[in-house]
Amino acid sequence: MTESATISTFTRASTIDRLATESFDLVVIGGGITGAGLARDAALRGLSVALVDAADFAAGTSSRSSKLIHGGLRYLERGEINLVRKTASERKEIHRLAPHLTEPRWMVMPLAGRTMLYSLRLAVTTYERLGGVAPRDTQQTWSGSTLAENEPLIDRKAFPFALAYREYLTDDARLVLANMRSAVAAGAAVLNHARVVGFTRQGSVADGIEVRCALSEREFVVRGRVIVNAAGPWVEALQKLENPEAQPFLHLSKGIHVALPASKLPIRNLLVLNTVDKRRIFALRRDEVVYLGTTDTTYEHGADMWPEITLEDVEYLLEPIPRHFTASACSPDDVITTWAGLRPLIADPNKKNPSELSRRDELLVGPLRVISVAGGKLTGYRAMARRVLGSVAEQLGRDLPELALVDEPHLPGGDFPEGFELPELAASLLADPAHAIDAPTADRLARLYGTEARAVLALGNMPIHAGSRAVAGEVRWAVEQEGAATLEDVYYRRMRLALFELEPAAAIEPLASFMAEVMGWDGPTRAAQAQQVQARMASDFAFR
Ligand code: FAD
Repeated sequence: MTESATISTFTRASTIDRLATESFDLVVIGGGITGAGLARDAALRGLSVALVDAADFAAGTSSRSSKLIHGGLRYLERGEINLVRKTASERKEIHRLAPHLTEPRWMVMPLAGRTMLYSLRLAVTTYERLGGVAPRDTQQTWSGSTLAENEPLIDRKAFPFALAYREYLTDDARLVLANMRSAVAAGAAVLNHARVVGFTRQGSVADGIEVRCALSEREFVVRGRVIVNAAGPWVEALQKLENPEAQPFLHLSKGIHVALPASKLPIRNLLVLNTVDKRRIFALRRDEVVYLGTTDTTYEHGADMWPEITLEDVEYLLEPIPRHFTASACSPDDVITTWAGLRPLIADPNKKNPSELSRRDELLVGPLRVISVAGGKLTGYRAMARRVLGSVAEQLGRDLPELALVDEPHLPGGDFPEGFELPELAASLLADPAHAIDAPTADRLARLYGTEARAVLALGNMPIHAGSRAVAGEVRWAVEQEGAATLEDVYYRRMRLALFELEPAAAIEPLASFMAEVMGWDGPTRAAQAQQVQARMASDFAFR
């Protein structure tokens, strides 16, 4: 599968030719996790599938999440048992398909007293049962010396106990890319930077989408027997193209994250912190960075690709630090990266506060029979795909074969040798003298590329600039295998340098030079691409 799981930017023209000439069983609009998961599932079950995204794959909400594959304990506390059952059990299935993109970590809840500890233990026990958690991974209570040893930064006077349970840390954008490439390996035709601007119809049924490629200016129609609108926060905009009278059904909620150097907040695990307004946020350690999130506030400005990050958002996320840790308070000046996304939640007229809205997903069939899907969580993407495929099969008027988990191929990079988890894979990369890389680089490459890290290294093992853990081969890999066409595609969503580097800005110019070489850009194009990414970063820091 890995050999043909290729989305090459150099073959865009032939992909467009294919999209414009073939007729597909299923056409998917939107290349976030919802669209990518659906395209993969449908292609694996034998449907011919086309998918287009207006921006880049994962450019929307699916690159702005907290990056957890989790059931969401808080939804259990709110009684949403079905949602939690679905997502809790999905965790180990996704781990089986892609161990590099689902790293088991301890989620630690600092607790002030025993009463809270006992009630949470009960909730976590239910959570573990729903998720079929293995005995070695079940919850632990930490107090006294265990707490001091495992998470020494927690203020033990305020929080003498902690409950630790297993969750999985992922890389959202790379999970999307892995699903997209897997869909391609199963025969799907996919294209980013290709916006849907209208529907074609035969009688009263939509039979195609009108698409405009932003890079070539080509305009074409993709014909399909069933069309699914998986455009996340933009679902309603697409519905309007189908039916100008369509009623709104989404409640958009903005969620932001801020990242600090781990030296400012040297935690070791994933932590749950309480906010002033009695919500919970996460503090998550990834490499040399700790990120905090998320906010959850109603967003009134419609579906924006880059929602504004305000000083108020940033201060809200930094506020809990001195109340939970013995570390000193952090200021907005300590923030090295931020990201914001919009949750496409299903509106409920009785609930105004987005934190209270369910994270369930919903399908709506429009007057031209376009199936619109929204809501849900990253974690539940496979279950969501199965559900949408049920409606697709109905419209196609045929049964689709069941996809037994055992038959389901690993996601690209997920075919780990028996007994290997991320540390073993990273150790094997480090031990190979041909790679000549240090331990932090091996860890990073194992996490981003899994077993494909060796192929990435074969394209170039030199750091992209002195002191960086990113290597030159990643740039060519991103363009030739993962469909990256712009500097932003590589910087934000392939190499994740915008999010998890100590000095993200330092990578922009060197990366632009590598991209120029791979893509054959002239001087002005290279400069324009670098300038666009710099401006993008600057606007995320406009709160200062
Ligand atoms: P998107 O990822 O937004 O994808 C929609 C795509 O449609 C975009 O790529 C866009 O470019 C494309 N599009 C739009 N218009 C057009 C058009 N006209 N033509 C073609 N394409 C178009 N879930 C978890 O499980 N774990 C978490 O830790 C978690 N944390 C979260 C934190 C935050 C702050 C937020 C906001 C969400 C979080 N979620 C989490 C939820 C999860 O991220 C979302 O449910 C999921 O990413 C939604 O994916 P999607 O594919 O539906 O939408």
